[in-house]
Parts: sequence; C-alpha cells; structure tokens
Amino acid sequence: MTQRLLVIEDEPTLSRLLSYNLTSEGYEVVVAEHGQTGFDTAMQQDFDLILLDLMLPGMNGFEIMSKLRGEGIKTPIIILTAKNAEQEVVEGLKSGADDYITKPFGVAELLARVAAVLRRSNGQEEREPAAAASDEAQISLGALTVYPEKYEVTLNGEQITLRPKEFEVLLYLARKPGVVMTRDDLMNAVWGFDYIGGQRTVDVHVSSLRKKLELDPGSVHIDSIRGVGYKLVVNKKKSVHH
Ligand code: CA
Repeated sequence: MTQRLLVIEDEPTLSRLLSYNLTSEGYEVVVAEHGQTGFDTAMQQDFDLILLDLMLPGMNGFEIMSKLRGEGIKTPIIILTAKNAEQEVVEGLKSGADDYITKPFGVAELLARVAAVLRRSNGQEEREPAAAASDEAQISLGALTVYPEKYEVTLNGEQITLRPKEFEVLLYLARKPGVVMTRDDLMNAVWGFDYIGGQRTVDVHVSSLRKKLELDPGSVHIDSIRGVGYKLVVNKKKSVHH
C-alpha cells in the first residue's frame, strides 16, 4: 500500500525538492505551502507521516503540532529545522515531533529518516503485544543476571546502572554468550537498520559497558575480536586461588 506523506513547507524550492524526491521513492505526496492550509489538510485527510517546516505563514510549525496533538492526531511528524537551532529541535521534540531534519539536508538523509520514522510507527502496534507476551523473565549467566523486561542487570546480586542502549547491547550479547557478534549485528539490533551513525557508536557503548561490568572481571567480561566484533564471556566457576 502506498504511504501518504504531507509536506508543509512554504519555500517553493524546498517543497518541490521534497515532493520530487519522495514521489520518486514511491510515496504519495501532498504539499501545503501555508500553515493554516497545512493544518486543515492534516485534519481532513489521513497521512502516514508529516514533514513540517517550523517558520510558516499563517500558523507556525509549533502551533500546528500542538493543535494536531491536541485534536488527538498521532501522525508521526518530522520537523525541518534551521542549522544550529538546537533550541528549535528541543522545543519541537517536546511539542510532539518524532524526529527532525536540519536544513540543508541531503536526499539520502531525508529518505533514511522518513523510512525510519515510518518503520517505527508501523512496527509499534505489532511489537508491543509481542513484548508483553514474552515470558523471558531473566537470563542468568554466572554472576550476571539480565532482566529483559525490567531493563535491569545484577552482578553477584548487586544492581548495575546502565543506560538504555548499554543495556540493549548487553542483552543482545547475553542472549548468545560465547558467540561473536559483529558490530553490524549490534548496530542493527540495538540502533536499527537505518541508524545514521558510525560503528564507533557500538565501540563507545561496549567500552562503557565494560567498565561497569569489570567490577568482577573474573566472572563476566566482553571480549573484543579484532576486526570482527564482540562476545560476552562468562566464567561459570570463579577461581578463588591465584
Ligand atoms: Ca519556512
């Protein structure tokens, strides 16, 4: 089924560029070049995604978002923001945007972000019940216990505080202890196929995870396999004598 996108952008060059590239990619695109028209269109028709400029005549992007959210319209929104406008991004995400694209942007980035937001919003309804039905209460590996549903980890019974992505990396490794996972495996599993960022992200998370787990190096640690990836190593029998 063709996915319908609404582009609300008053700069004709940009709206044409967006429309052209998104149509070529197979999306059906409706363009509104005025804030009020954009809001009305979003209210009257169904869309899978809205690309929203912030500075618009008639009604600005923030108003459009808060009015749409106020009306219960949950269509995912990607805001188009100016470069170096961190405050705009923060405000936009707070007002209900799902993601943002900084102008000027490349076509590849645009298409990747659109696809990612669509995938997330389509996947949500299917994924939630599946996760709830899962009875994988805990994974015990020697001194390490991972609680997938609670996002908790204990080492020798003591809870370790991990950031969400660190936790997800650990969980992924813990599901197949002793098996080498490539950086690509980890990227795709934790950040998603369309994550725009380097594999360095994986290394940074593994390195901080390692610091937190090296509370007890004799029990659990993460090995680097040079040029390949990582594996979780569990020493079931802890040696007491040295
Ligand atoms: Ca504008």
